[in-house]
Amino acid sequence: MKLTSSTIYLSKKAFLNNIRFLKSFAPNSKFFPVVKSNAYGHGLKEVVSIVDDYVDGYCVHSTDEALEINTNNPILILGHINKSEKELIEILKTKELYFTVYSEQTVDLLEKIAGKVNKKISLFVKVETGTHRLGLDEKDALSLAERIEKSNLLNFSGFSTHFANIEDTTDHSFAKKQMEIFNRVIGEFNQKGVYKHNACSAALMLFEETRTEIVRPGISFYGYYPSRETIVSLNSKGYNRKNGLKPALSWITKPLQIKKVKAGEYIGYGLTYRANRDMVIAVLPVGYSDGYDRGLSNNGFVLVEGKRCPVVGRVCMNLFMVDVTHVERVSVDDDVVLIGKSGEEEITADTLASLTGTINYEVIARLNPYIQKKIID
Ligand SMILES: *Cc1c(COP(=O)(O)O)cnc(C)c1O
Repeated sequence: MKLTSSTIYLSKKAFLNNIRFLKSFAPNSKFFPVVKSNAYGHGLKEVVSIVDDYVDGYCVHSTDEALEINTNNPILILGHINKSEKELIEILKTKELYFTVYSEQTVDLLEKIAGKVNKKISLFVKVETGTHRLGLDEKDALSLAERIEKSNLLNFSGFSTHFANIEDTTDHSFAKKQMEIFNRVIGEFNQKGVYKHNACSAALMLFEETRTEIVRPGISFYGYYPSRETIVSLNSKGYNRKNGLKPALSWITKPLQIKKVKAGEYIGYGLTYRANRDMVIAVLPVGYSDGYDRGLSNNGFVLVEGKRCPVVGRVCMNLFMVDVTHVERVSVDDDVVLIGKSGEEEITADTLASLTGTINYEVIARLNPYIQKKIID
């Protein structure tokens, strides 16, 4: 009797391959993979346990994620503080956190906390270079950096920024302009030797100038290319994809029930599928609450015994049905691959993303954290 609905398998081999590949672009940079949003849906605790000896630190979005990480490596908060002062003091006693700041109030708060924990806190100032997400304009960034430098409780570690238009295009003129602004700010700062970082996956792989003291790849660490445009740009630089990234995650389930459906009968809510022949279907214990998008209704497919089996009817909250008529001797013991390889076939997050009109990032980031994880090879 099986007890779980589905399982996410994490390949240690794939993670180590991806780290090796990405580090080859920037062998002298500190490698801080981004593990926000439950490690892009892969499971924060499990991913950290796999890679902790092979990385220099981690990037997360907020302080509550930093709290979940069991590591002696430093953790860089890219976004914001969402823990109370008291909780932050507790976290800082055992963990080395680097903060990204873009307001005087946050700097004041961190200075106060540094006084209480009796430990210098490291801060990076985020520079607005054209993304208009987090960050301060040139002048304000410089004056906040000077404010931090004056404090003997705070460590001014450097500047960071984030690119707006690097994976959506093969025209990288906007990214170059952002890089110029970023470099100008650093040039104007009175102190030499501060760190700077701006390399997401696409930047790291495409632009030498972004391979600075720290790099912060996300999607590529998990084995995915940020976009088709990035692949095209990489190809034009003569690089061979075969030796590159390998998806680290597979998502597998088993049928709850196999049943026959007669020609003319319907399948699922809304009667959106009607059998035009006698068929055999498998009912699977996965639904949109697990992160299997409802947009895959009558649209997606799974793999059983190396064969593509289309989704028939609507994806429900906890269940969906697939056509397994063409799979011989199908049973409830068969592995059903939602993401991963089976025989010659493969479904990746890119496959599901293109079927549902989104990007691979969203497909994996929305995998329900409750899905159990197993580490393989
Ligand atoms: C998410 C994120 C990254 C990682 O981007 P990828 O495209 O996944 O490599 C890097 N930096 C910041 C600020 C981010 O928010």
